[in-house]
Amino acid sequence: MLFDLHCHSQASDGRLTPAQLAHRAVERKVDVLALTDHDTLAGLAELRQEITTHQLPLRLINGVEISTAWHGFDIHIVGLNIDADDQGLNDFLSEQQQVREQRAIKICEKLAKAKIPGVYEGAKALAGDAMVTRSHIARFLVETGAVKDNAAAFKKYLVRGKSAYVANAWPGMEAAIDAIHAAGGKAVLAHPHGYQLSSKWVRRLIVEFKRLGGDALEVAGCQQSPDQRKQLATYCQEYDLKASQGSDFHFPASWIELGRNLFLPKDCQGIWQEWPEFQAG
Ligand code: MN
Ligand code: MN
Ligand code: MN
Repeated sequence: MLFDLHCHSQASDGRLTPAQLAHRAVERKVDVLALTDHDTLAGLAELRQEITTHQLPLRLINGVEISTAWHGFDIHIVGLNIDADDQGLNDFLSEQQQVREQRAIKICEKLAKAKIPGVYEGAKALAGDAMVTRSHIARFLVETGAVKDNAAAFKKYLVRGKSAYVANAWPGMEAAIDAIHAAGGKAVLAHPHGYQLSSKWVRRLIVEFKRLGGDALEVAGCQQSPDQRKQLATYCQEYDLKASQGSDFHFPASWIELGRNLFLPKDCQGIWQEWPEFQAG
């Protein structure tokens, strides 16, 4: 059974609608998909409805990817198998959306001072019904020719030390883990090698995540070295954490795809093994 437990739709910064994602997952032979949009559950109902309407051979796991702050870094916690109707989680996510909105506004004010006006309106148009993320801002900068590509938008303006950088105001990891648990879900540390931390700091992050009640590490992704995957499997053993896997798919591209290259090293325990519907026998 192929699990892909991390991807994005237009409900946050993905380019496909939740319905399109459902069909693409089936084409890519994914059996179990978690939709994990940034700080919102808004895409889940549409994806579930699409599966029902077309009787797709696909299981949807309710998910979300929550932004948190740790020592000034944006650390992402994926919540899996959450109750999407949980009031506490929904309240928590509305707060997150306000934090994100305020940050986007400040970034765009800084860009205006750097003589690039109209970015908020432009990014908002790209975001549609979803909230404006830095990805939308970067995309607008590319589409208007202010920078040559997405990476340049971040490098030139949006990362720490650059003119339109705005420090995050996210809550700590514990708040996210607690909100996920209270909604009946499991908390997964997303892409532990994706934060540009030294290996010493990756370990510190994992220790802290575990101490705060975290359940699993995202051990497998489609853009990592075999060594990184092995290393994360070792951390799972060492710190008694379960393992998850996900593509972090945002849009069709040659290097990243739903279901691609997703498997756990042996000795890892998939987080789904605790879910009654996937238990053997
Ligand atoms: Mn994203
Ligand atoms: Mn992430
Ligand atoms: Mn993601």
